[in-house]
Amino acid sequence: MKDLRNMSKQQIINFVEALGEKPFRGKQVYEWVIKGVSQFDEMANLPNALRQKLSEVAILDNYKIIQQLKAKDGTIKVLGALKDGNLVESVFMTYKHGHSACISTQVGCKMKCSFCASTLNGIVRSLTAGEYLGQIYALQKLTGHRIDNVVLMGSGEPLDNYEESVRFIKMVTDEDGLNLSGRSITLSTCGLVPEIYKLADEKFAITLAISLHNPFQEERMEIMPISKRYPIKELLKAVEYYAEKTGRRVTFEYALIAGVNDTELHAEQLGSLLRGKLVHVNLIPVNAVEEKAFKPSQNDQINRFKTILLDKYRINTTVRRELGSDINAACGQLRNSHLKSE
Ligand code: SAH
Repeated sequence: MKDLRNMSKQQIINFVEALGEKPFRGKQVYEWVIKGVSQFDEMANLPNALRQKLSEVAILDNYKIIQQLKAKDGTIKVLGALKDGNLVESVFMTYKHGHSACISTQVGCKMKCSFCASTLNGIVRSLTAGEYLGQIYALQKLTGHRIDNVVLMGSGEPLDNYEESVRFIKMVTDEDGLNLSGRSITLSTCGLVPEIYKLADEKFAITLAISLHNPFQEERMEIMPISKRYPIKELLKAVEYYAEKTGRRVTFEYALIAGVNDTELHAEQLGSLLRGKLVHVNLIPVNAVEEKAFKPSQNDQINRFKTILLDKYRINTTVRRELGSDINAACGQLRNSHLKSE
């Protein structure tokens, strides 16, 4: 069975032609795929026989929502089933400038960051670009809103699934596809240095976000094992290269964990690492994870941290609005509780 959501326009045209149809039929099929339909019967302008034929050789519904949680602020977190039964989470968020989808790139994760719920059971497999898109279609259908922004910040490490992440970026920015602008896409990584260089050379206009979480190499290695392979120094060189090549400001994400990485010493060190660079720092009170014993920093500590970066080091710094905090929006938590209850 071919997953039509995972195919380009030309691939779909060829596929439909190989079924003995004229090229315009393939174009019609592609237009329906982009609209996000999940059943062939929804393809109203196709003859019944063709709908029937397609349903025997291809699929559309590669991501089915099986559970949803709505927060008071309108954020919706969903758990969805892929065709093989694996589960991943996606999140719908509303901002001033539109609607965003936070999507998963892998089932589980192998990066083993100590504060993250996605990595607790390791990795099962990576998603296809079509399964990235499937999450967007499912959220659009659920909410009736068009997705304007996409963040690759659900479970998984997008640069550990490099080829599919790149294919997704090309598909979702395609004029004949969802036609999102590069600027409306953010890719978040824990810091896979060789892939950051490769991504820079693709020259997409997307935003790169780096999950830093600690400015001291010794300490970062303890919470993020990837830092043993790619130390902070090398990571920052790669980021510089990315900013130079793309002209894009890079975001640094910093989840504040009480007593672990939220002291003034940490703020000072972070400030001196990033001073004068084209960056933006996003401070996030860490989400509590049931299986782990750590707590988010208190507000006054967060503000102190922010003030040092802003006033002393002149670094563009924001505290992330906590969307969906009442529904456990930390990635991986919904899937974990579902797996546990089975
Ligand atoms: N693997 C990629 C993208 C997925 S994680 C990455 O590491 O960036 C998305 C973001 O959520 C990362 O910044 C990650 O560090 C952060 N994160 C993971 N667990 C968290 C938690 N418990 N609280 C707050 N942020 C968390």
